[in-house]
Amino acid sequence: MIEKIKALLDIQNIDVEISKISNEFKEMPEKISFINNRIETEENKMQNLSLKVAELEGMSKDFQNNVADIEEKVKLIEDKLFSINSAKEFEALQKETGDLKRKKIEIEDNQLKTMEDIERYKKDSEQTKTKFEEEILPMKDEIGGLEESLGKSKEEIAALNKKRLDLSKEADKDFLKIYERLITNNNPPIISETKGEVCGHCNMKIPPQVYIKVLQEEELVLAPCCKKILIPSST
Ligand SMILES: [Zn+2]
Repeated sequence: MIEKIKALLDIQNIDVEISKISNEFKEMPEKISFINNRIETEENKMQNLSLKVAELEGMSKDFQNNVADIEEKVKLIEDKLFSINSAKEFEALQKETGDLKRKKIEIEDNQLKTMEDIERYKKDSEQTKTKFEEEILPMKDEIGGLEESLGKSKEEIAALNKKRLDLSKEADKDFLKIYERLITNNNPPIISETKGEVCGHCNMKIPPQVYIKVLQEEELVLAPCCKKILIPSST
């Protein structure tokens, strides 16, 4: 009986260790994904700002071309005006240059507004880039570190599980079955020493007939209070 319990206690030590490591790293994947999302958001923001600047610069170029086209047209018409005799045609052409010049002013207004937008977006883009370099880039290193320690913790758990499997092969099948059933729904420790007639896990008084069975050490005794496996105090 003592040897059978001893095997379970060895397994339990490993389970406690596994549980400790798992708890320590429980929130790590979520933390990593949170930081990754933050980095991604900032990267998207920078990209969107660059795209916006490029788009506005394209618009600005179009406006410039439109203005140049209009200036050329106006010049052609004005040259033509000198050689016209018909008053009606003269008036029509004058009206056309008037329309073109108004159109040109309108485009130049838009052009100016676009240039202002470009300045604004460029400034925003630079600020975002500075913030990225100062605040976000170091986060990538942080993630590297977190992933490395998470990887190590997984390796540790894998090694412990291998050790556990070896110990399980040596353990008593019936005892192990009970232990495994209990650990499925509970955190280790599963085996608890008594402190006198008191459960070592939850400090509840153990009924005398149960306590006698514990002391007899002939079978596995579960505590009525918390369903832990009770064993006699080792001290
Ligand atoms: Zn208890």
